[in-house]
Amino acid sequence: MPKTTKKSKFPTELCIFGRTVKVEILPVVAVEGSECDGCYDPETKTISLAEKLDEESRFRVLIHEMTHASMDISGLSELIPDVKMEEAICVNMESLAAVLKLRA
Ligand SMILES: [Zn+2]
Repeated sequence: MPKTTKKSKFPTELCIFGRTVKVEILPVVAVEGSECDGCYDPETKTISLAEKLDEESRFRVLIHEMTHASMDISGLSELIPDVKMEEAICVNMESLAAVLKLRA
């Protein structure tokens, strides 16, 4: 079972391929100076999600970032030379989460 906050069942920590991935919700998430809805840092194994997102959007973005994390930890990212291809895979997984309307 992933660790969750007391107020919500939203995970604060996940185990992906045996590695701990932290999940944090921040007032602002930015990558290279550009604000975004979420990101995954392969150095710290941390997923950051924007506080402004409603719960459904936050889960959609979480699935997107979990896909980046699983591709990083499994080594799949290194086999995909084109970052646009990895992004397309993550967007695809994100769209499936929306279909299922995953929630805590
Ligand atoms: Zn992405």
